[in-house]
Amino acid sequence: MIENSSRTELSALGEFGLIERLAAMVQLQQPSTKKGIGDDAAVIDPDGMQQVVTTDMLLEGVHFDLSYAPLRHLGYKAIVVNLSDVYAMNATPRQVIVALGLSNRFPVEAVDELYEGMLLACRNYGVDLVGGDTCSSRSGLVIAVTAIGSAKPEDIVYRNGAKDKELLVVSGDLGGAYMGLQILEREKAVFTETGAQPDLEGHDYILERQLKPEARKDIIELLQKLEVKPTSMIDISDGLASEAIHLARASGLGVRLYDEKLPIDPTTYSTARDFNLDPSMCALNGGEDYELLFTIAQADYDKIKGNPSLTVVGHMVDAASGYRLVDKQGGEHELKAQGWDAFLQKS
Ligand code: ADP
Ligand code: MG
Repeated sequence: MIENSSRTELSALGEFGLIERLAAMVQLQQPSTKKGIGDDAAVIDPDGMQQVVTTDMLLEGVHFDLSYAPLRHLGYKAIVVNLSDVYAMNATPRQVIVALGLSNRFPVEAVDELYEGMLLACRNYGVDLVGGDTCSSRSGLVIAVTAIGSAKPEDIVYRNGAKDKELLVVSGDLGGAYMGLQILEREKAVFTETGAQPDLEGHDYILERQLKPEARKDIIELLQKLEVKPTSMIDISDGLASEAIHLARASGLGVRLYDEKLPIDPTTYSTARDFNLDPSMCALNGGEDYELLFTIAQADYDKIKGNPSLTVVGHMVDAASGYRLVDKQGGEHELKAQGWDAFLQKS
């Protein structure tokens, strides 16, 4: 979905011309960036901190569909999903590196739009785009982003720090991005069959959750303010069930989740009902929410109690008790890490 109507072929600029054009769009903000785009490598000053590094790749046809993902939003999302991983380490993201595989059906204007979205995310989160790579691709658009962050060694939170009986807390609400995707897929199918214009009315929240998610920088800041340091943490990219199991497994524990506690937005709930889907299953397995899931000591409960952005969804148990979901009637089920791929096939 390219919004700009003029078209300049990539070949008119060439690889170096394109890189120069992109480099000219970038403004550096981080004192730790000593050298950005333009040499053989960027130079970063860790300044006594530990560095965290993470990378994520987005492939056309696998992770996104250009028939409904505007390039500006796609660029934004490509950055945000990486920053989310850095926040999940309780670290501050400072630099990103962007590698692009571009097919020649892309004009220069499309790359501009993609970059506008990326640079908007960089500005919003205070990170510098310090380099990348540009190749031509014969299999659609490829976007690989690497994020670099830093934190004091004692502040970094790993997946393996949870203790038995600690509380499992999630930020925001769940299942929205998945329901947004269902709306987009449905409208695309209608358009393909009948040519009817998509009807996206009234679904702003869940569409934004899918197309232009945010990383929970605000939650990291909130926890600092509340003086709560999570004992383990992960971001929710594949679904609550799968991520809760990751924390439990890494910490050598089991986990119990309570269906009645799952935070679900009313629009997510009603859309799930319209699609004949169980809203709880969407929250558990929907994925792409980019919320933070973490454990805290029971003694910290009073500090987070009543905060509208934080919900206790369960607690850790010993390894022998396994991974369990308690339903609204009190019945217990095995919690499975379906992730959203398996979930799609099931529904
Ligand atoms: P090399 O051939 O040494 O890898 P490149 O010509 O690929 O060098 O890159 C030159 C500079 O441009 C480097 O600083 C690199 O990080 C940067 N760069 C290349 N592609 C991109 C891109 N898509 N976005 C941002 N920076 C890029
Ligand atoms: Mg290169």
